[in-house]
Amino acid sequence: MEPKKPPLSPMDLGGMRRTFSSKKFEAQFTDLTRPLGALYTPEQTLFRVWAPTASQVTLLLYPTGAPSGEPVERRKMEPEDKGFYSLILPGNLAGVYYALETKVGDSTLFAVDPYAKSVGVNGWRGMVLDPATANPPGWEEDGPLSTVTHPADAVVYEIHVQDLSSDSASGIRHPGKYLGLAEGGTVTPFGEATGLDYLQQLGITHVQLMPVYDFSSVDEAQGGYNWGYDPQNYFAPEGSYATDPQDGRVRVRELKQAILALHQRGIGVVMDVVFNHVADSEAFSFNRLAPGYFSRIRKQKGKKVYSNGSWCGNDTASERSMVRRYLADCCEYWAREYHLDGFRFDIASLLDTETVNAVMERVKQVNPHCLFYGEGWKVTSDLTKKEAVLAGQDTSALTPGFGFFNDTLRDGVRGSLFDGPAGGWLAGEEEFVPQLKDCIRGNAWWCPQPDQAVKFVSCHDNWTLWDKLAQVFPEQSSEFLRAANGLAAAMVFFSQGMPFLLGGEELLLSKADGNGGYDPNSYNASDGRNRIPWGRLEQPEVQAHRDLYRTLIAFRKAHPLLRLRTKEQIDAALTFLDTPGCLIAFTLEDPAVEPGKLLVALNPGLEPVKLPLSGGWKVLLQSGLTLPEHEEDLWVPGMGFVAAELG
Ligand code: CA
Repeated sequence: MEPKKPPLSPMDLGGMRRTFSSKKFEAQFTDLTRPLGALYTPEQTLFRVWAPTASQVTLLLYPTGAPSGEPVERRKMEPEDKGFYSLILPGNLAGVYYALETKVGDSTLFAVDPYAKSVGVNGWRGMVLDPATANPPGWEEDGPLSTVTHPADAVVYEIHVQDLSSDSASGIRHPGKYLGLAEGGTVTPFGEATGLDYLQQLGITHVQLMPVYDFSSVDEAQGGYNWGYDPQNYFAPEGSYATDPQDGRVRVRELKQAILALHQRGIGVVMDVVFNHVADSEAFSFNRLAPGYFSRIRKQKGKKVYSNGSWCGNDTASERSMVRRYLADCCEYWAREYHLDGFRFDIASLLDTETVNAVMERVKQVNPHCLFYGEGWKVTSDLTKKEAVLAGQDTSALTPGFGFFNDTLRDGVRGSLFDGPAGGWLAGEEEFVPQLKDCIRGNAWWCPQPDQAVKFVSCHDNWTLWDKLAQVFPEQSSEFLRAANGLAAAMVFFSQGMPFLLGGEELLLSKADGNGGYDPNSYNASDGRNRIPWGRLEQPEVQAHRDLYRTLIAFRKAHPLLRLRTKEQIDAALTFLDTPGCLIAFTLEDPAVEPGKLLVALNPGLEPVKLPLSGGWKVLLQSGLTLPEHEEDLWVPGMGFVAAELG
């Protein structure tokens, strides 16, 4: 779809690992504040790019955003210092599409502006955007959520734009679109709330939207399905979720409309950002303007190769000053322009700690309560600077306030991520009890503070909770599996830190493949495999399961003792009871936070267990497979939990 590949690729032309990361180059070619992109006013537009190794940059103007066709105008840009090029064009250029042509050595490279705020269909032309024409009514009165000021107060629900509304039972008029997120009053054919109303009634505080920046895998004109972990244009929204992917204003307006509708229901929006790699490093805009600068490239047996810690073929060189600036600019832009409430970083551990901190610092100037968390798995990457440190779980002390997904809790509860039948604590494996007790405290071996603990038992990756449990307990009834699922959720909501769940977990979401197996990676599967299964709400037991999640979320919100702020506070408030086997019971008491003393007990055994208590108690909440028949003592249901107030 894009103009032909240059005779030499960005990697051949650039990839100057040492030069680009040297102090000399950085001093000569770094400017952290000079504005970049198409800076629009009704009177003129200033175009500016950073292309430090280019000998010439030409601005190409187009009447439409279609990827084919010749430019109607070609204008040479003027070199500034530090590798910048700029050009001012007078007049009102709103709606004009543009691209760039760079000369590097003997090669001519075609590039989209990495700062393009919107794009034409499939992202091969940038668009000069007049923000005023892309704001929905009421946008000026909107802003980020002010009700959640600490990660422990958040309850994050992960959804893919398309999955929320693609089930025919959703009753949503814009299936698969941003606008599907903005519809109130939608119900299933049998009258159960769906979509926006459902999210509000569930009680979650934030949705985490799987990628909504422009990604490459779906043909926007045709439609299709993909999770979107293949970034093409970081500053522009994806077009396949817009009702018109051809007009760059529509994707912006409709995404804002969705965010506005969520905000009006008191729900914040977290954006999933995938900075660790791009869809195509050779075609990626930044690497066309500054060949090889954006990516980690090294020599292997005399040949240049991309670092591949992400398994996507091109790790981002976040440690370079102008890449670091780019990522901070990007998040700051989305936070300010789209009123976002949080960012989820895909494989944050491929970025360096200084960049993660720089991004947080910039965004917090716009939204001081913005949530930040991501994946911190142990990975390796060919960092281009000796002093750079990867931002993972094991270095979490270097990025305070940035949370990491807590696989210690997930795997402790469910069992191995990759070995289906291998069970965890729910299957009676006592070896997991010590690590789960740490997680209940909001810690883990790698996690110093509760605001860095993202607690979950399912996300878009790997088997859904239901599918994992079905493999661990192949002989058990669905009643048993629902109880085990409920107990796993209780572990999440009764633990310190920030709770997170995959949308549909509360509806027993399954990705069964129809051949007796379960899909652990449905990134490009059908709508049918991935959708929120609204039709299931017809079953009373699914309604009851949804209600259990509602109850757990409401309980957590009602009890500040479950949402303590610091490790020190938790250490003073939380005491584990001496209990046998896999039974875990603890009390929480901090008169400065909440009157009374709370007891929580979680029992993955089949039989109810009596708790030896000397004082009085009052059951606040209990659920499980086998409920106790006695009322004269405090019992924990089998494969279930109890929360009580001690007196
Ligand atoms: Ca796209």
